[in-house]
Amino acid sequence: MNGEEFRHWSRKAADWGTDYRESLRERPVRAQTQPGEIAARIADTPPEAAEPMERIFADFEETILPGMTHWQHPRFFAYFPANAAPVSVVAEYLVTVMAAQCMLWQTSPAATELETKVIDWLRQALGLPAGFSGVIQDSASSATLAAVLTMRERALDWQGNKQGLSGQQRLRIYATDQVHTSIDRAIWVAGIGEENLVRVPVTGELRSMDAEVLEAAILADKAQGFVPAGIIACVGGTSVGGTDDIAAVAAIARKHGLYLHVDAAWAGSAMICPEFRHYWAGIEGADSIVFNPHKWLGAQFDCSVQFIRDPDALVRTLAIKPEYLKTHGKDGIINYSEWSVPLGRRFRALKLWFLLRAHGLEELRGMIRNHVAWAGKLAKRIEAEPGFELVTHPMLSLFSFRHTPEGIADLDAHNLRLLEAINEDGRIYLTQTKVDGRFAIRFQVGQFDVTESDVDEAFEVITSMAVSIR
Ligand SMILES: *Cc1c(COP(=O)(O)O)cnc(C)c1O
Repeated sequence: MNGEEFRHWSRKAADWGTDYRESLRERPVRAQTQPGEIAARIADTPPEAAEPMERIFADFEETILPGMTHWQHPRFFAYFPANAAPVSVVAEYLVTVMAAQCMLWQTSPAATELETKVIDWLRQALGLPAGFSGVIQDSASSATLAAVLTMRERALDWQGNKQGLSGQQRLRIYATDQVHTSIDRAIWVAGIGEENLVRVPVTGELRSMDAEVLEAAILADKAQGFVPAGIIACVGGTSVGGTDDIAAVAAIARKHGLYLHVDAAWAGSAMICPEFRHYWAGIEGADSIVFNPHKWLGAQFDCSVQFIRDPDALVRTLAIKPEYLKTHGKDGIINYSEWSVPLGRRFRALKLWFLLRAHGLEELRGMIRNHVAWAGKLAKRIEAEPGFELVTHPMLSLFSFRHTPEGIADLDAHNLRLLEAINEDGRIYLTQTKVDGRFAIRFQVGQFDVTESDVDEAFEVITSMAVSIR
């Protein structure tokens, strides 16, 4: 591709992107495709000869696009959002064009220094005290793995990386059953083992870790000769928004010398609004906090921010300094690859810088406040609708419900049928969860362009589909 062609196709992509975004409301949210359908339309062998871009682009539109679920659709109410504000997409194009490896300060000085700055902007935006620094990871899963590895090395007096885990004392990590599966996987990958992830029961409407049981478990483990290493608390769990009492958990972590990691991957974005910060009161007592600006805030995927109280512990866990990577730079240079598991790093700070400047915190707060208010209104409407019940009340913009008409023996199967009907209709997209063993339909409001009338339309779709499947 020569320079003129690059210009042409870049412009074409930009035009396509704008048309795509503007046409989203006319498309079904979830891909309406069967497994294997798209693969069957893709060549089985790689081309020997160059193909013209016209054909490649046409195939993208004809073959790939029909198999896409549209995460930027304003009526995407499934999972959690993965927002990509247009301004962050523009930044991402620039990043892609430069395609810099941001592993060391010297391989990308501006990327490193901007990362330090935007992390501190976000620290202020979320109301975290000075003293937290941080790093942009690819995903919350990676941030949690980095935190678990730090817990492990700290508890083993930094001998785990060197000696391996066989013959070491048994480490213990504590969390509830409301945490994301990335916590389980971090425990597996770190070599700690699922049997040493102690599930502390939850209490109350927010499904918070029972602090008394937590402390009793720590004491019992110590008495058995196990080594309690850390606690993973959760603010806004994936299923129904389960949220721990961070102040209570942090007090126990401090008392017993445990490392505290807080997973606020989704809900963290809402903390730009001071009125929601009660959900993580006591957060200043955490050692590590992860939140995903690529979820609710609007930074194009991927962009996960990990705040760290003591980066030395993290760097001591993850830094490798072979000769060829030594930068011989001046003191104080940050090499962010020493703060994360992968070596190579994309320039993720630019889209945050563009996003925060183009919208300003006040506009982003307004968006999140709207989402929370609209989710609250919709939950009330569904609760008041005959034949429906709320399973969990809104935590920020997330709640769950189910359809409970008279005379249906298997309500789980009935609600699964309702969910399928809703998603096949295509106007909205919802996902499910299990709450205390019962099937529930999840609803979250969080897409960057969603309006109140999109949420009203969701009510129409849900109630009309409930009639149509009877
Ligand atoms: C989405 C989510 C994760 C996983 O995030 P990734 O960035 O995809 O790894 C972890 N925890 C919670 C609470 C989440 O909502």
